[in-house]
Amino acid sequence: MSVRTSTTRLQVANHRNISYTNLTQKADLLDVTVTNTNLIAALKDVLDKGFVVQVTSVKTDHSDDSCLGIPGVYNHGHTHGYALDCWCEDLQSFVQYLCDNPLVMKIGLGGARAQALQITPGATMVFSDNNEPHIHFQVK
Ligand SMILES: [Zn+2]
Repeated sequence: MSVRTSTTRLQVANHRNISYTNLTQKADLLDVTVTNTNLIAALKDVLDKGFVVQVTSVKTDHSDDSCLGIPGVYNHGHTHGYALDCWCEDLQSFVQYLCDNPLVMKIGLGGARAQALQITPGATMVFSDNNEPHIHFQVK
């Protein structure tokens, strides 16, 4: 069975600025039935801007977070394809840039280095995530 994908997804998944800790992450990004279009658009935006992003979790390699959010109103975690976890060495600029993207709804700061950032959140909700060094970003 072939995966339903798109030209944009192929560009994002094979972008020169992206890397993966697990190949299921790439497959998740390619599959239109797994990840939301806004997530791909927000990721494309940061990659095209020149940020070098290491993806650390998407859906297949993430725990079920479908209990989060407000059922029936929004449920935009990893399980429903609206979030991914990643890392970028240019952390401050990366997180601030994500905050200014209107598609981004929530950003989680994982680990001490990320939690020490001084971020102007704007309309984006920024929260302290767990102690695992990562940036969780979630779209509308
Ligand atoms: Zn996450």
